[in-house]
Amino acid sequence: MVCPLFAVRCLLQLTPDKNSNVNWVTPKDYLGRNDPSHQFGMKKSATRRLRRFLYSTRKRLLWIAILTSGLILLLSISWHVPGIPFSLPTPQPHPLPQPLAQWDDQTDAGDYFTEIKLTPVEHLVWSEFPVQVYIEHPKESAESSASAKRFHDWYDAVLQAVEEWTVYLPLQVVSETESADITIVRSRPPLQASFNRETQRFENIRARTAETRYEFYLRPGVEESQRILAHKFTIYLSPHQTVDYTLATARHELGHALGIWGHSPVETDTMYYSQVRYPPEISVRDINTLKRIYQQPTRLGWAVTPNPPLETPFYHGD
Ligand SMILES: [Zn+2]
Repeated sequence: MVCPLFAVRCLLQLTPDKNSNVNWVTPKDYLGRNDPSHQFGMKKSATRRLRRFLYSTRKRLLWIAILTSGLILLLSISWHVPGIPFSLPTPQPHPLPQPLAQWDDQTDAGDYFTEIKLTPVEHLVWSEFPVQVYIEHPKESAESSASAKRFHDWYDAVLQAVEEWTVYLPLQVVSETESADITIVRSRPPLQASFNRETQRFENIRARTAETRYEFYLRPGVEESQRILAHKFTIYLSPHQTVDYTLATARHELGHALGIWGHSPVETDTMYYSQVRYPPEISVRDINTLKRIYQQPTRLGWAVTPNPPLETPFYHGD
């Protein structure tokens, strides 16, 4: 994707600066040294004309740069949300949920807020609590089999991860996936490959143990006609891990779904980017980061204008 700022810089470089070392075309060069019809007096007025021409060209180029960068900025927003028939809400912060408002780290453990990535709606912050979590659960009929036992163990591990995060952000387990904000599926993530432009081939097709994806949608607001920009998460969590790793992975993926859209470079944080031999619990740094994220502005949870239909198609990412 073209970076709008980069484009502005490139275009601005085309508009010469008086103090820069740009090789200006001198009037002499411009008019032709050996042309006998160009006497001194004529040269002076030609110089003025040329200066005027260059000055107006500079202004024109500057305007083109401004307009182009505006256009690119506009396109970069609609690029992510194709066919968008309304304006996204202006990013604003929401009030902190109570546990985070009360959170006060006395140890100065720091955070990894700088590692958090922005999405097309800025930060992935929840604004209505408790956040509804659906965990896929075993069917009653297969309760006695060995595979059902593994399913129960998987469910219990995931439930424990939900309970651990509930201390910091209110979560509620629901029985229907339709009403859930976060859906946790007992399945390997769908296979994905990245396309290498140089080799023109798909690469890195590999099975992962977990993946978290988000999507945006519109939900009705307090007034019936109002439309609120909302998000949902789906977490795919492999059934083929030990209970300890299922718990660690669920804890990590839930951290993403609660808004930590990035990784810690420190091994003792739950959001460390790689799986480790002895998975850490939720750390002070994890919560310091979470609190900073919830203090940031977001487009989520605010009304869009005007009021598009609820079934408006939307962007999803992972
Ligand atoms: Zn991760």
